[in-house]
Amino acid sequence: MQKQEAKKRLEELQATLKQYAEAYYKNEGIVSDSMYDALYQEVQSIEARFPELQTKQSVTQTVGASLSDKFDHKTHSTAMYSLSNQYSVADLQEWYKRLSDTLQQDKLAFVCELKIDGVALSLVYEQGKLIEALTRGNGTSGDVITQNVYNIVQDIPLTIASKTRTVVRGEVYLTKTQFALLNQERSQQGQEEFKNPRNTVSGSLQLKSVDVIRKRGLRFFAYDIVEGDLSNQHWDNLALLKSYQFNVNKEGKKCETLEEVIAFYESWTEENRKKLDFEIDGLVIKLNNIELRTAVGYTVKFPRWATAWKFKTEQARSRLLYVKNTVGRTGVITPLAYIEAVMLGGTKVQRASLYNYDQVKQLGVFEEDLLIIEKGGEIIPKIVAVLPDERKPDALSLTPPTHCPVCEQELEQEETLLRCVNILCPAIRKEKIVFFASKNAMDIQDLGGQTVSFLFDERLLLDIDDIYSLKNKKEELAQLKGFGEKSIERLLAGIEKTREPELGNFIFALGIRHIGKVSANLLAKNYKTLAAFQQAKADELAQINGLGEMMCDSVIQWLESPLNQALLNRLEEKGVRPKDAKEETKGHFSTQKIVLTGKLGESRIIWKNRLETLGFQVMSAISKQVDYVLVGEGAGSKQKKAQQWGVIIIDEAIAQELGKTIFTKEDIMQYLQNNESHV
Ligand code: NAD
Repeated sequence: MQKQEAKKRLEELQATLKQYAEAYYKNEGIVSDSMYDALYQEVQSIEARFPELQTKQSVTQTVGASLSDKFDHKTHSTAMYSLSNQYSVADLQEWYKRLSDTLQQDKLAFVCELKIDGVALSLVYEQGKLIEALTRGNGTSGDVITQNVYNIVQDIPLTIASKTRTVVRGEVYLTKTQFALLNQERSQQGQEEFKNPRNTVSGSLQLKSVDVIRKRGLRFFAYDIVEGDLSNQHWDNLALLKSYQFNVNKEGKKCETLEEVIAFYESWTEENRKKLDFEIDGLVIKLNNIELRTAVGYTVKFPRWATAWKFKTEQARSRLLYVKNTVGRTGVITPLAYIEAVMLGGTKVQRASLYNYDQVKQLGVFEEDLLIIEKGGEIIPKIVAVLPDERKPDALSLTPPTHCPVCEQELEQEETLLRCVNILCPAIRKEKIVFFASKNAMDIQDLGGQTVSFLFDERLLLDIDDIYSLKNKKEELAQLKGFGEKSIERLLAGIEKTREPELGNFIFALGIRHIGKVSANLLAKNYKTLAAFQQAKADELAQINGLGEMMCDSVIQWLESPLNQALLNRLEEKGVRPKDAKEETKGHFSTQKIVLTGKLGESRIIWKNRLETLGFQVMSAISKQVDYVLVGEGAGSKQKKAQQWGVIIIDEAIAQELGKTIFTKEDIMQYLQNNESHV
């Protein structure tokens, strides 16, 4: 590469990486970390070859991203840095050698900690009181988010047992359980799910509404104390943080040698990482001796005394064969890459998702490109990068389709998505039937996606109501391959069982855009009968607490469509009669009083909401009138009083069963008897 060419590429990369970093630190990353890291490494290698091209503004010389305009900013009294990355034992040995050469010491002790995948936070205490919480920002100054921290993040003490000015550093994170719960709630409400816990944390910290943030259930691990009553060993400073009542991750380990560090890293197998209830992306290896830390100091971006050793994500290379554009229930076009078969994480992979054409453009995919595929948490692996150097000459870039691959109607662009808006599109109709019959909706046994697709192609199932005419088509069904007498009987019996569905399930099954399970139930609860729901008016919907504007518009649009009205009529003619919604009954435990105490695995807000839904009154103080005490780790005086007064004590394991397998006080007593250890 010539210098001129390198300069141009560097400028391109810097602009792209800055755009990615802005999005990543503020809310949602545009590309995967692997892709970001690959481009970052390209910058490093160009800068190493042409040092004169490196500027002070380069991504390799700066920390974080620009500050938010929603908050005030403040300079950190001690700067916040990023961490250098190591990817192998050899990398780590080289890092160690540099460190021991600089310090002229051949025996260095380290503290290894989990690298929590969250968002860094700096906490300032004066006279023992928390006075300020700052984000890392650009490393020199951060956003002042003190109010948010006062109100939202568990595990942060508002006072500590020291009058010395103290600055604590740590990571705000979300547990995997809490993240799953948030997404469950969002999908039930027809809202887009959050992509990953880290993005959700950074997005949450940017919010201004304390109520909304509080519901997110953010947590905090403290991992450094940079000003205060420090001792000379980082290990002892972690103990000091614990004594101040901070949550310090208990998996950290003091390692006297590099070999111990390597063994500790190797002990964090994928299997062990999966057992943690929060995400980590590596280990942080920190020099234990604080004086030596001061001696070795910092580069413009990293401490020299600490480094991150990242875990490898399993990747594979494979060539793109072709792309198939699929059409979903709502008409969204998803490009699916078919690739040469390759083994990844123990399974044979032949398809990988390209999500949407915005992503295809970001990645720069050309026909028959060599791709890097990664297996994340998803079932279908994702494409994280392409290797342009391996591109075949004359290959053309992938272009988005202009027309629906199934009905050939012109596609519409909606933000990053391409959509087929033809409601008669066979693909959309097929997917709507699949959705209607699916487990979460009408739950029709034996009518899964493949059967629907087959019957659709055989023209026996062209719309949702055809499901209820199948009983008149036994002969046609019997002609089809794979449909024996028994399987037809089972299928028809499964269908018959769903003729009187719950109204909420039925509304959900209609697949109205933005209407998830919770909002469908809300509509059922408010309108009580299908006939009343069919007459819903925009101004009435707007009065329903919990339905957003988008949802209301979507319901009206759906109900006004003559095609949908005809569908509802046909369903009625065929004997589908959703049950009228019952008057709201109070939860199983209505009027019973409960107190929460000790440290619970899930946030108190989540527990409070859940218990209130079940009918409990959640009290803050213990008294003889209280029925139950839910105890967590380290519960103290409230638990003692409960024991004295004979108040029933339950733990989180039992509480998780309330409303699922346990419905009454008697059930609780029975459970306690059967599981004495819980008492
Ligand atoms: P980093 O996240 O790799 O490492 C530094 C951070 O680690 C600290 O600020 C702290 O928040 C955190 N940390 C967690 N546990 C810790 C512990 N026990 N001790 C100390 N620190 C701990 O560095 P960074 O500069 O914030 O980000 C760089 C990385 O972020 C890149 O490697 C890339 O993967 C990712 N990134 C991705 C995108 C994207 O678009 N996908 C954009 C920018 C950055």
